[in-house]
Amino acid sequence: MTNNDTIIALATAAGSSAIAIIRLSGNESISLVDSVFKSAKFQKKLSKQKSHTVHLGVIADKNTAIDQVLVSVFKNPHSYTGEDVVEISCHGSHYIQQSIIDLLIEKGARLAKAGEFTLRAFLNKKMDLSQAEAVADLIAAESKAEHQIAIGQMRGGFSEQLKKLREQLINFAALIELELDFSEEDVAFANRKELLSLVIKIKEIIKKLIDSFAYGNVIKNGVPVVIAGKPNAGKSSLLNTLFNEEKAIVSKIAGTTRDSIEDILVIDGIPFRFTDTAGLRKANDKIEAIGVSRAKNKIEAAKIVIYLYDFSDEFDQEFVDKIYKENKIIILAMNKIDQLDGIDNNWIKYLKTRYPKVKNCAISAKKGINIDVLKQLLTNIISKKQTAGLVVSNSRHKNALENTLTSLQAVQKGLDANLSGDLLAIDIRESLRYIGQITGEVAIDKDILGTIFGKFCIGK
Ligand code: GDP
Repeated sequence: MTNNDTIIALATAAGSSAIAIIRLSGNESISLVDSVFKSAKFQKKLSKQKSHTVHLGVIADKNTAIDQVLVSVFKNPHSYTGEDVVEISCHGSHYIQQSIIDLLIEKGARLAKAGEFTLRAFLNKKMDLSQAEAVADLIAAESKAEHQIAIGQMRGGFSEQLKKLREQLINFAALIELELDFSEEDVAFANRKELLSLVIKIKEIIKKLIDSFAYGNVIKNGVPVVIAGKPNAGKSSLLNTLFNEEKAIVSKIAGTTRDSIEDILVIDGIPFRFTDTAGLRKANDKIEAIGVSRAKNKIEAAKIVIYLYDFSDEFDQEFVDKIYKENKIIILAMNKIDQLDGIDNNWIKYLKTRYPKVKNCAISAKKGINIDVLKQLLTNIISKKQTAGLVVSNSRHKNALENTLTSLQAVQKGLDANLSGDLLAIDIRESLRYIGQITGEVAIDKDILGTIFGKFCIGK
C-alpha cells in the first residue's frame, strides 16, 4: 500500500443533476467523512462499518445540515484505487456538491488532480497501465465500436496476452544470463530452438496487434469518408440528409462549398468522419482554389471516397480512374434519381466492367431515396475489414509494439547468427523493456505517467 494523502473530487459530471457522487480516496478518507457525517440509524462510526456497505445519514457543517446523503464505504485493498474509498451520493445541486467538497477539504482532504484516482489504482496494481488508459477511452467512447475496443482493453485484453509472453521471455533471459555465469564451461541452459520459436510466435502476435491499430485508430477518430464530385452534384445535400441537419450550405450556385466540412456520423455502431469537399473543378478565385486543393488533400487522406454524380451531368471519368488506381475504397453514387424515369442498366454494366472493385448505388440526396443502401455499403466495408479479436487503439501502445518488434527481430537475427549469450541477452532485455512499457511493468517515466493521466478529467 502506498501511503497517500486523501484526495476528493466530484465523480459525476459537473453541473446540476438529480444525484451527484463525490469520491474520496486515501488513508483518511473514512475518518474525514466520519467527522462530518451522522448516520440516520446506527451510532456506529463509518470506520467501524464493514467494507462495501451503504449508509443513510446527514452531512453537516457543525450544526448546519448540508444534505441527506448515502455514503458507500470501500476498505483497502478492495476498492477502485486499492485505498480506503468513500463515495458520497448527494443531491446534485451545484451548491450542495461544492459545500460538501469544501467542507471535506477544510477537514484535510485535497482536491484530486486529473486522473489521480485511476493513477492510484495503477500504482496499487489494481490495473495495469493499458487498462488504466482504457478507462479514459471508455469514458470518452461515443460509439459501439469504440466502446467495444475500450472495454476489451480495460478487462485485460491484449495486456494479459503480452504479460504471458513477457514472462516466457523473462525465463529465457534468465537462463541465458545464467549461462554467462558458467561461461568457462561452455554450457547452454537456454534451448536456442525453443527461444527461436517463442520469438517467432511473439513477433506474429505483435504484428497482428500493430495491424489492428489501423482499425482501432480509425474507430477512435472515425473512418474518414470523403464525398467528392463535381459542383452541384449534390454533395452538400447528401451530407445534410445524412446528418439530418443543415451543416453545409446548399445552393444552386456552383462552387459555394468553399471549404471542407467535417462531422462524425455513427452508423450501426461505427463512427464515420464525413468530409464534404469543395467542388472538383477549376477554381474561379483564390479562396475557392484553396478549397479545391484542400479537397484533394482530404481525398488523399480518406479511406473511402463516395464519388457523387448527377445522372444528367458529365461523369468525371478522369478523376474516378485516378482514385481507382490509388486503391481506395470507392462508392459511385448516382444522384438525383428522383428526376429519372429508370436507371440505364448499360451504364451500370459499363461502370462494373471498368471498375470491378467499386460499389454502385443510385440515390436522391434531396429526397432521401436509397440513403439506407448507401449507409449499408459503408458499414459492410468496415465490418468486413474488422480485425477479429483484440484491437490496439492507442498510439503509445503501437509505438511500444513497433519497438518490441524491432528488438525481437534483432534477437532472431542473433539466434540465426549463433550470437553469444551475452549479446542475445541485451536484445531480449530490450524487447522486455518495450513490452513492459505497455502494461507498465517496467518503471515508466514520471512525465509519461503525467501525460497519460493528465488526459483524464478530474474525478476519474
Ligand atoms: P454540391 O455543389 O455538390 O454541394 O451540390 P448541392 O448539394 O449544393 O446541390 C446542388 C443542387 O442540386 C441544389 O439545388 C440541390 O437542391 C440539388 N439537388 C441535390 N440533390 C438532389 C436530388 O437528389 N434531387 C434533385 N432533384 N435535386 C438535388
